[in-house]
Amino acid sequence: MTKKIIYRLQLPFQSKTVIILDKRAIKSIGDDTNVKISELLKKDANQMSFEVFPPKTSDKYDSVQAATESIAALHPAFMSVTYGAGGGTSKYTLDIAKNIERSHGVLSLAHLTCVNSTKGTVRERIADIKAAGIQNIMALRGDLTPEMEKKDRADWDYHHAVELIREIKESGDFCVGAACYPEVHPESANQHEDIMHLKEKVDAGADFLTTQMFFDNNLFYNFLYKIREAGITCPVIPGIMPITNANQVERAIQLSGSFMPQRFKSLVDAFGNDPKAMCQAGIAYATDQIIDLYANGIRFVHVYSMNKPNVASAILDNLSEIVKR
Ligand code: FAD
Repeated sequence: MTKKIIYRLQLPFQSKTVIILDKRAIKSIGDDTNVKISELLKKDANQMSFEVFPPKTSDKYDSVQAATESIAALHPAFMSVTYGAGGGTSKYTLDIAKNIERSHGVLSLAHLTCVNSTKGTVRERIADIKAAGIQNIMALRGDLTPEMEKKDRADWDYHHAVELIREIKESGDFCVGAACYPEVHPESANQHEDIMHLKEKVDAGADFLTTQMFFDNNLFYNFLYKIREAGITCPVIPGIMPITNANQVERAIQLSGSFMPQRFKSLVDAFGNDPKAMCQAGIAYATDQIIDLYANGIRFVHVYSMNKPNVASAILDNLSEIVKR
């Protein structure tokens, strides 16, 4: 039976909407979601995933859902759905992740954090994820609000991602991802200590790692070398953030502490005041980083697409002969 599925997609720099008849969606719904990300990572093909975030409040739910659906219509290998700082959007994380899988046949990765955790709430959330048929969980400590940073957090039952990984692995047959930091996590005294804690996460059962954003690929290659030396052998997915407006720059540095190469700073200086030019330049810069990663043998790249279908689709268009979908 032929079924028409119509997606509305904002093209880059255009305000009009186009309608796409997506034949792949017809055959793939339901088929591609019974997979673990660890299996995808074994493929000898260039692949890409996108990250989206859930709404903070219910009034934004529909617009966020529409944006995530437009990204799912591009058929990335998987989509990850973040878990909001402070844990406030836990229900929406799962709802958006379920919607991506059920309506678009795209595999989803639901994030889960230790923030304000109790054994009861974490077990309940894992049970909900399992009941929704989602097999992939990203286990994180979580971003801290300024108030949390001041407290000792003794009332949390899980303080580090490693404890969450153990809990998830004991709760079912999940594929678990964890975060890693090519430029060292800001709370770590040094890289050696950070890598030792990273190894604990992998030894606890993390099946793959995704990196914090970085803007200089050499930092990633260097990090990869160091963690392999430390005995960490699982797949590592580099995370690339396309910076498409000047305001994002400060926020990105504040959150990640990432080093901004002069080449990138010049681009922001030149185009930061022209939104369309900055968007185009930011996409080109991210594309360049991604091409370099594939050219150096990396098979899987994660893009922090931030609920922007135009950015996700522009990057895939730029890579149409490199990432075959
Ligand atoms: P951990 O692995 O717990 O590490 C945090 C710090 O503690 C590090 O310095 C580490 O070296 C140290 N450490 C680790 N284990 C121990 C231990 N046993 N004893 C002492 N020290 C230890 N945040 C959100 O709120 N929601 C999200 O959805 C989200 N998604 C993310 C996705 C990716 C790919 C990345 C890279 C980050 C994401 N974050 C998210 C941000 C993340 O939560 C923060 O960077 C947080 O500060 C650390 O999380 P973690 O899981 O790496 O923590």
